[in-house]
Amino acid sequence: MAYERVTPPTNGDKITMNPDGSIIVPDHPIIPRIAGDGIGPDITRATERVLAAAVSKVYGTKKSLVWFDVYAGDASVKHYGENVWLPDDTIEAVKEFKVAIKGPLSTPVGGGIRSINVALRQILDLYACVRPVRWFNGVPSPVKEPQKLDVVIFRENTEDIYKGIEYKEGSEKAHKLINYLKSEFGADIAMDSGIGIKPMSVTGSKRLVRMAIEYALEKKRRSVTLVHKGNIMKFTEGAFRDWGYEVARDEFRDKVVLESELEQFGGKVPAGKLLINDRIADAMFQQLLLRPDEYDVIATPNLNGDYLSDACAAQVGGLGLAPGANIGRPYAMFEATHGTAPKYADKDMINPGSLLLSAVMMLDHLGWDECGKLIISSLEKTIEAKTVTYDLERQMTGATKVSTSQFATHIIEKINAA
Ligand code: NAP
Repeated sequence: MAYERVTPPTNGDKITMNPDGSIIVPDHPIIPRIAGDGIGPDITRATERVLAAAVSKVYGTKKSLVWFDVYAGDASVKHYGENVWLPDDTIEAVKEFKVAIKGPLSTPVGGGIRSINVALRQILDLYACVRPVRWFNGVPSPVKEPQKLDVVIFRENTEDIYKGIEYKEGSEKAHKLINYLKSEFGADIAMDSGIGIKPMSVTGSKRLVRMAIEYALEKKRRSVTLVHKGNIMKFTEGAFRDWGYEVARDEFRDKVVLESELEQFGGKVPAGKLLINDRIADAMFQQLLLRPDEYDVIATPNLNGDYLSDACAAQVGGLGLAPGANIGRPYAMFEATHGTAPKYADKDMINPGSLLLSAVMMLDHLGWDECGKLIISSLEKTIEAKTVTYDLERQMTGATKVSTSQFATHIIEKINAA
């Protein structure tokens, strides 16, 4: 592969694919890395140090992560020139090496690109946004029993109202469409409406639900809940629910039980089976607050998933410790869920937890779960010891405020002592 302005490292190897789409990970995989804008470089440095310590503790010199720095956002404009927010080099690097990590990117104001994050998801067809949400002991939370929430949200990433098919109120296209819908279908739409289109396909919905069920089976989770607004939007949201059940029945019949079938088992999930149920989105928001421990893996369309992910993150203490990944087949990108927080850029202040926990998801994806577990337990010990960054310190009593790099050092000390 010829790159224009970046050079891949020569001391690592490529991740390759099995014919079934699973990945083959060498001992020293090359991982493209976009440090990101604003606080991105601070949290990337801290994350790199913690990962190196954990990998070395678990594998010695047998395995390592080999970073390949590529560019997007402001750093790309500096490296490649005006208006180059997302260079081909970066896309090609992810395609060649398959698994990448990314800090937050500022959204360009004006210019030819709406959002770099959305462009990356679309170009690489990263169709599932995966957000595990759980509480870490000691983290301040607005609810009484934050430990009861432990869910993994699979949010469809490419369709729905976020597809970007929108026409401005008063525009020629909006008027044409309104007139067409009125005359052809008898639709009742005010002429001064803006129009947004909400496409949801069998293919897009099924592949998302399939990934959620595969994940739940592999990780031995208890249930997959399809969250939708099908009572109102029958042919999009309602269809998502129906297609989700179809995937469960047609492809995983011997491994799952549907909620509607529970009666024949005395209302209980038979041992070893994964429960598939569904909930209407508004009821689900209530359920996750009132009975969070009844839910486990969630599969949902784009807009519901957007709201639900942040609401769940708030319940366990906010975005500072909320990881995320955008995953397709074969590519996957692990990334912080917060933005660039420009006022803290280069101040060595911010909480690196979101990117670090996203990196833990990446280690799981690579099959290096042991390293991920070690990082999580060391992070937990650091929070329990109340040595935390400003965002957590200001909400805790008796805590010591540490910088981003010191926070990483505390975690590394716990890794080394494990
Ligand atoms: P933001 O960067 O997420 O920051 C908003 C506030 O959230 C910060 O001021 C800070 O609050 C808190 N915060 C964010 N990250 C934190 C962390 N790691 N640790 C502790 N606190 C954290 O949101 P924004 O200011 O709306 O957006 C700034 C830029 O980021 C925009 O250009 C936006 O488009 C972009 N963005 C990018 C992504 C992405 O790349 N995935 C996502 C969202 C936004 P306090 O000041 O109260 O401490």
